[in-house]
This record gives sequence, C-alpha cells and structure tokens, in this order.
Amino acid sequence: MPLYEYTCRECEHSFEALVSEGEEVECPECHSDRLERHWSLPARPRTTSQPLPLNCPPDLPPCGPGCCRL
Ligand SMILES: [Zn+2]
Repeated sequence: MPLYEYTCRECEHSFEALVSEGEEVECPECHSDRLERHWSLPARPRTTSQPLPLNCPPDLPPCGPGCCRL
C-alpha cells in the first residue's frame, strides 16, 4: 500500500495517508476531497532543497558530501 502525502486545497492542511487502490481520501480537518497528492519519498529527505548534480565539472572542487567524484 503506497504512502502518499496530501495537501488540502481547502484548508491547506498537510497529512500523509496509506491509500489502497481506488480508495477515496478526504481531509481529516475539513473533510474536503479537493486534495493535492504528492509522492512520499523516504529516500530523499525533505531538508534537501536542491538535488546534487549527477555529474559535476571535473575542474571544480567536489560539489558536496554526495558528490559523484567522492
Ligand atoms: Zn482541509
């Protein structure tokens, strides 16, 4: 069962829900079904705002802790 993250378009409440195929989801706050669905990606922490480039120029120092050349 996939875990989805939702933002309610009515009250902007954000929540996560386990949703099975075809199941209707509603906002726990205002019970609206006008929801925006986002994939919940545990592999990519939310604190990472900018993804590191896959290939950084070899003439520059390593681009960060996850640099492809480290
Ligand atoms: Zn709501």
